[in-house]
Amino acid sequence: MKSRSHAQRARRWPKLNWAHILWFSFIQAGVVLAPLTFCWSALVVCIILYLLAGLGVTMGYHRLLTHRSFQTSRVVEYLLSVLGLLANQGGPLQWVAVHRVHHQHSDAEGDPHSPGNGVWWAHLLWWMPHVPALDEPRHYRRYVTDLSRDPVHRALQRYHILVPLALAGLLYGLGELWAGVGLSWVIWGIFVRTALLYHATWLVNSATHLWGYRTYQTRDRSTNLWWVALLTLGEGWHNNHHAFPRSARHGLRWWELDLTYGFIRFLSLVSLARHVHVPGKVLRPALVPSRRAGEACTVLPGSMVGNE
Ligand SMILES: [Zn+2]
Ligand SMILES: [Zn+2]
Repeated sequence: MKSRSHAQRARRWPKLNWAHILWFSFIQAGVVLAPLTFCWSALVVCIILYLLAGLGVTMGYHRLLTHRSFQTSRVVEYLLSVLGLLANQGGPLQWVAVHRVHHQHSDAEGDPHSPGNGVWWAHLLWWMPHVPALDEPRHYRRYVTDLSRDPVHRALQRYHILVPLALAGLLYGLGELWAGVGLSWVIWGIFVRTALLYHATWLVNSATHLWGYRTYQTRDRSTNLWWVALLTLGEGWHNNHHAFPRSARHGLRWWELDLTYGFIRFLSLVSLARHVHVPGKVLRPALVPSRRAGEACTVLPGSMVGNE
């Protein structure tokens, strides 16, 4: 009886991930200083770093490392991973593992961030408890056996915090040199930009499993939502993505703007990306009633990308 009540208490009060909670609070506290430190050059730094770190997550962590939706050279792959580190969303192994778990259990038991457990859980709170399956390498490593074999990615995972710290120092120095605005560049380039990108990324977990339209009858509740797609450089076409997880292209209608796919296409045009997966003709709704459409993707040589 005693152990049962202990188990019930443990379920109600999960062990917290204090590293995540304190880090998130630290970032939010820095945002408070934003109005006091505003200057136009800091805003420009914020926007540029939002785009770079955002692409690191969408093109690097997500479409390349998680889904292998295109191939590129090792150098470009590592550069994209370093850009991903700038987002302060953890190292590549853990990020990829958590996202692969999401695809395996989307909106079902085992999904790390389904809105079925509440919209705030899906958006933010899921990141706060300590979940051994998601937080401890010995548990999540089985989802990233491919990346675990790569010593560079292992090192990036282990020392992921050093890259944003180095960036903060660089921003301070450059800002001081520019116009004595080092603190402004740090506040806007690190704190404001990181907070904005956190919420944009988390909107994919919350909003695009709740609101918007569904083009495909996937087994989950994923949706397409234009304003999340704008904020996340194309990741808001999330129903398309769940239908075709291997596809490098998420915006599938002509007006579904997908900036990340645009950059992948650019890489292919300059011969830095190849074997870009796109859905091709089988994507027509009449032909995709309910199957997991990752199987349906076609692989086009780099020169043909965009001609589907
Ligand atoms: Zn999803
Ligand atoms: Zn995905």
